[in-house]
Amino acid sequence: MYVLDTSAILAGLALPPSEVVIPPSVYSEVHYKSPDIEMYEIVSPGDEFVSKVVKASKKTGDYEVLSRTDVDVLALALQVNGVIITDDYAIQNVAHFMGIKYETAEMLGIKEARKWKWRCESCGRYYRKKYEHCPVCGGRLRRVRDK
Ligand SMILES: [Zn+2]
Repeated sequence: MYVLDTSAILAGLALPPSEVVIPPSVYSEVHYKSPDIEMYEIVSPGDEFVSKVVKASKKTGDYEVLSRTDVDVLALALQVNGVIITDDYAIQNVAHFMGIKYETAEMLGIKEARKWKWRCESCGRYYRKKYEHCPVCGGRLRRVRDK
């Protein structure tokens, strides 16, 4: 099951409707621009999943930049054990932290490998984006090649 965020829908990604769910907030943001999404199933993420995402995003330091819609996308992916399609780094970062699978619209399209990620020298966690310090332990981040 795939969960699409706003960026994925606006990228014009076409997936089999039976494999896609979206939260109501994504629907309201883009349905007037992308009539195609009428065919996707709309599912509201449960409160407990939303709380888990909020908590995790505060730990990674992404909470401030996540919109309510972003939180819903993550919560829904957690709820249905789905794969998020997103080009948003903050969403990817929280997904990575929470063990939620994600792909970019670009990866699904032209399969271009992502080039870099950052690894904390102290605790060993990986991040998709560069932080000043590791959001979890405060250690130094080093850029490493992604395979
Ligand atoms: Zn660390």
